[in-house]
Amino acid sequence: MNRGSNTEWPMAGAPTEEHTLFTTRGASTGEGAGLFAVSQRPALLVQRGPTVGDWFPFPEDADSIEVGRGEVATFQVKDASVSRCHARFTLVRHEAAPLEVFVEDLGSTNGTRVGGEMAEGKVKIADGDLIRIGDVVLRFRLMDSADVAFQEDISRQVRNARKDTLTRLYSRRYMDEQLPGLMKAHRRNKQVMSLLIIDLDHFKAINDNHGHLVGDEVLWRVAESVRATVRTADSAVRYGGEEFCVILPGTDRPEAARVGERLREAVGKLNLDSLSPGLTVTASIGVAALEEEEELHEWLQRADLALYAAKHAGRNQVRIAPPTAPTDPQERTDPTPVVETLQRPTVQVKKNKKK
Ligand code: GH3
Ligand code: MG
Ligand code: MG
Repeated sequence: MNRGSNTEWPMAGAPTEEHTLFTTRGASTGEGAGLFAVSQRPALLVQRGPTVGDWFPFPEDADSIEVGRGEVATFQVKDASVSRCHARFTLVRHEAAPLEVFVEDLGSTNGTRVGGEMAEGKVKIADGDLIRIGDVVLRFRLMDSADVAFQEDISRQVRNARKDTLTRLYSRRYMDEQLPGLMKAHRRNKQVMSLLIIDLDHFKAINDNHGHLVGDEVLWRVAESVRATVRTADSAVRYGGEEFCVILPGTDRPEAARVGERLREAVGKLNLDSLSPGLTVTASIGVAALEEEEELHEWLQRADLALYAAKHAGRNQVRIAPPTAPTDPQERTDPTPVVETLQRPTVQVKKNKKK
């Protein structure tokens, strides 16, 4: 089998300890090579996929690590094309000979490829080999301490670039870049997906009455609350100034509505007394489940319309967008009750929101 350094896969390039659109758990510690010989710190670098730039240095005492989308994976790669427990890397140490590393597929849906060929049984890998799990491309590296330091630095920069500076949630730009690919992968795997748009109520009044610094602190506290309320598989995004978006992979409309309600309650219960005694904040939330043929802007627009309805109904509420109406009523097979039927407002929906 040809397992040279495969140039047909694009370069790029890191893990995050935080939940995420697309987290990778495990992450780099930057603790040097330790037990491994100086030139032999095995690591996996994400070279293609939503968490491009993440990397995973193998723990020093590990004899094997598992890569997958599931919470139990040692190196968690959140991508719909990756199975919960996708592939295992086994390390064999010898007294006087170099370390040997093998990869095997764990019965994944989309397979594991080494150098473009489907891995059957345990396949020995070498420094520089490309391993593809689902649509995600990993490069296996044996790193010396200079490589480790460099990778730490690059990965930190890549992680920072994905985040909004005030809230540390994903930036709108990262969402715009990643969401089309995520939608495509979900459709291919016939998985459901939903999103929420959260807009703080009368936020301008908080700024006006308490000052911008308090406003910023409230945004941070709301972001913390969103982070704590959603699952690790979900991704929280700062969508606009006082607007947030949560992407819920694998979540249908009724479940997304429940998440929306939990979020609304969590925001309303925030204790902001330390910022200003008696200060409270509420949120209006629009929910939309992804429809079969829908484009990203249409999906966002339906969530935005639901949000508009929540505002219109008095704020501090969750509204769920109905599915796009089928042209032929006979085709309507969705038995899910439409929680809220929305009246399309006559106002134009904002297309490019700015902070
Ligand atoms: P509504 O309930 O209709 O959403 O009312 P609102 O006051 O929240 O909405 P509006 O769009 O009138 O005001 C949003 C405010 O959010 C105005 C803007 O100054 C503030 N804002 C946006 N980004 C930031 C930020 O980063 N920090 C602070 N402190 N305020 C921000
Ligand atoms: Mg707003
Ligand atoms: Mg608002």
